[in-house]
Amino acid sequence: MATPEIRIVGGGLAGCEAALQLAGRGRPVELYEMRPSVPTPAHRTDRLAEIVCSNSFKSTDPATAGGLLKDELARLDCRLLAIARACAVPAGAALAVDREQFAAAVEARITAEPLITLRREEIARLETAPERWWIVATGPLTSPALQHELATLTGRDGLHFFDAIAPTVTLASLDHAKLERAARYGKGGADYLNAAMDAEQYEAFYRALTAAERLPVKDFDRAALFEGCQPLEEIADSGPQSLVFGPLRPVGLPRLPSGRRPHAVVQLRQENAAGTLFGLVGCQTRLRWDDQKRVFRLIPGLEQAEFVRLGQMHRNFYVDTPRVLRPDFALRTEPSIRLAGQITGVEGYVESIAGGLVTALHLDAELDGRRLPPWPYTTIIGALHHSFLFDDTSERLTPMNANFGLLPELDRPVKDKRDRKLAKRETALADLDLWLEMANER
Ligand SMILES: Cc1cc2nc3c(=O)[nH]c(=O)nc-3n(C[C@H](O)[C@H](O)[C@H](O)COP(=O)(O)OP(=O)(O)OC[C@H]3O[C@@H](n4cnc5c(N)ncnc54)[C@H](O)[C@@H]3O)c2cc1C
Repeated sequence: MATPEIRIVGGGLAGCEAALQLAGRGRPVELYEMRPSVPTPAHRTDRLAEIVCSNSFKSTDPATAGGLLKDELARLDCRLLAIARACAVPAGAALAVDREQFAAAVEARITAEPLITLRREEIARLETAPERWWIVATGPLTSPALQHELATLTGRDGLHFFDAIAPTVTLASLDHAKLERAARYGKGGADYLNAAMDAEQYEAFYRALTAAERLPVKDFDRAALFEGCQPLEEIADSGPQSLVFGPLRPVGLPRLPSGRRPHAVVQLRQENAAGTLFGLVGCQTRLRWDDQKRVFRLIPGLEQAEFVRLGQMHRNFYVDTPRVLRPDFALRTEPSIRLAGQITGVEGYVESIAGGLVTALHLDAELDGRRLPPWPYTTIIGALHHSFLFDDTSERLTPMNANFGLLPELDRPVKDKRDRKLAKRETALADLDLWLEMANER
């Protein structure tokens, strides 16, 4: 039998994970990445697996969905998670990476893998041929030509939502006398820089933020804003104290020098291994660039801040998965073409990596004439990639991060909230172990 020709489009998080998984199973793969000849509106380098905004891969706490997803991925031998852990920077209970080291390490792994051929070119047409298989992992910023091709192949236009990037500043430009190192509730080390505001400072910041000019975004529709990544000014629009109960909440952090609790706190998280760059946590924005500098410099300690990256908003493309894909992520209309990562309607770095892994496992099984056992819906991966994405009861798929709300209730009452989450985690990991045994037997 001829060797299957596997073409993966998109050298981002999902595409790189899928390529490493398939190559690790002895399958030759061609990986197509259009950068640098064709840029995207958010990527800044020509690196594979570039992460475009926050450097956080979210929590590692076992009682969070982010923590459970990582534990599940580790059991499935996820390649990019292992690389992320090797490139970690201090971030309390979160896994945050040095974005340059991470991208360089993924690219080094891909280029050192003899079964992966990296091709730097845009794919605009998904031409089918006998024994040819496609995995399209082109993410939220899929090139317009390929969006058009997918619309033609599926007979439906794609969907979209909007989200935004937060600014990054240099450590050297900050006034350290006004910043305190601490992690919320003391979790992990004292890894965050905290800029505390009293009520008066917050009031001035709030007024400047809501009055500042916002950059127009093509086809912008407020209803299509992704909830977990809303611009700060859009959150502020919903009321003067909305930020204090949201991204700038002062809970679990040190008091002001006066001994009073701060009214609001902006946290800054380390962005690179050298510790020279810090990102403003939760401060995604689409303000005009001059206005961003002026507004964020009102935060105590940031008066002279030097911005190395400013916030922007982007339109994110994805497909209507329940109506255009089969549960193994193949197009209903052309099963030799599969999709992976954020383009399928998941949201988040780790969720996208998980998507690359899941689609690669389905394709590997199919090429062996096997079928994967059904994914346990008690796991985050099973619930997100199989129950949620393929739920066709709502008219329109709305992208989703990993969260405990996706998991079924326990069959016994557990009073304490954290204990309940830990019990769900135990069930999830036990079911995943069973699933792995069944998958390996087939
Ligand atoms: C502006 C923005 C901010 C975000 N911020 C966060 C965040 O802070 N935290 C978080 O968890 N998630 C965030 N996300 C969401 C998401 O997790 C990431 O976008 C993630 O990188 C998606 O992974 P992916 O592999 O699906 O796509 P990507 O990582 O985007 O990879 C897709 C790759 O495909 C390439 N490509 C596109 N079209 C073609 C083509 N036709 N031919 C060849 N190559 C092509 C692109 O150049 C890119 O390298 C953000 C997304 C955006 C757009």
